[in-house]
Amino acid sequence: MTPDQNAGEAASKRRKAVVTGAAGFLGSHLCESLIGGGWDVIGIDNFLTGRMENLTALQSAPEFRFIQQDVTEFISVDGPIDAVLHFASPASPIDYLNYPIETLKVGSVGTHNALGLARANDAKFMLASTSEVYGDPLVHPQPESYWGHVNPIGPRSVYDEAKRFGEAITFAYHREHGVDIRLLRIFNTYGPRLRPADGRVVSNFLVQALAGEPLTVYGDGGQSRSFCFVDDEIRGIVALLESDYVGPVNIGNPNEFTVMELARTILDVTGSSSEIVFEPLPVDDPTQRNPDIGLARELLGWEPLVQLREGLEKTSAWYSKELAEK
Ligand code: UDP
Repeated sequence: MTPDQNAGEAASKRRKAVVTGAAGFLGSHLCESLIGGGWDVIGIDNFLTGRMENLTALQSAPEFRFIQQDVTEFISVDGPIDAVLHFASPASPIDYLNYPIETLKVGSVGTHNALGLARANDAKFMLASTSEVYGDPLVHPQPESYWGHVNPIGPRSVYDEAKRFGEAITFAYHREHGVDIRLLRIFNTYGPRLRPADGRVVSNFLVQALAGEPLTVYGDGGQSRSFCFVDDEIRGIVALLESDYVGPVNIGNPNEFTVMELARTILDVTGSSSEIVFEPLPVDDPTQRNPDIGLARELLGWEPLVQLREGLEKTSAWYSKELAEK
């Protein structure tokens, strides 16, 4: 075989994925991981909450192509396509409260369009759903079989119900049209590229601690979350994509901490002497959250490897650099 034939052969073996939300925190890490795993990737984003700088490494990769588009408009991408991964959506409570209608539209119309693209190409479809479908859970930890406890008209419902609709239409396309689906439920994830002003608890506390400003604990800080480092999360997502299991599957770290415990750990990791201040608890803020990851362990052989302290050290180093450059 000539070198050209070799190159042609290698290129033809690469599968092609479309990732919506490619300029986001998870989307950009996911695109990089897929490329490393032998995929060509077409990334789509409208930069509502995504950032151009998240694409810096990707834009020099020949396996990556970017389309700036709002996926609530018809998505036109040349085939063949092997997988469509729908990750576009505001994901931080302050973002989806700032963009309530956009959040509802990307979870509903956007999911419909992305499913249509998958169906037209006979491609696998993955929906990035969320632990928010469990609402303020009455079952703890949360297994995939739990139907949730969601306020359908509260301020968080724009995200929760959009994702629940997304899950419903994804399963309807599976049953009605035979689309090969993967339904993923993501729990709180943190790491480099969670933008400093994102508003989620890890980014807020790290930025505040590094600046010597007070850490803003909402409520009494007794509410809990289970934090997964981004590298673990992406490894789980790719394992689900490559598996034969349609889901839903929880991907998250089951080690649970109260918000106060997180605040103290962040002060310790950063060596900050910031004080802790208390602010009102947002409406419908879930009191507890912890993924039951039995299914992911059994079906995907996946579990998180990075524990909170180590993940926070890596993330803190990234914020130090990021903030120094601004
Ligand atoms: N939180 C906090 N201070 C902040 C930001 C968030 O105490 O500056 C709390 C928030 O009320 C919630 C938890 O931290 O109980 C996680 O919030 P986040 O916005 O990260 O994500 P959620 O899990 O609520 O979607």
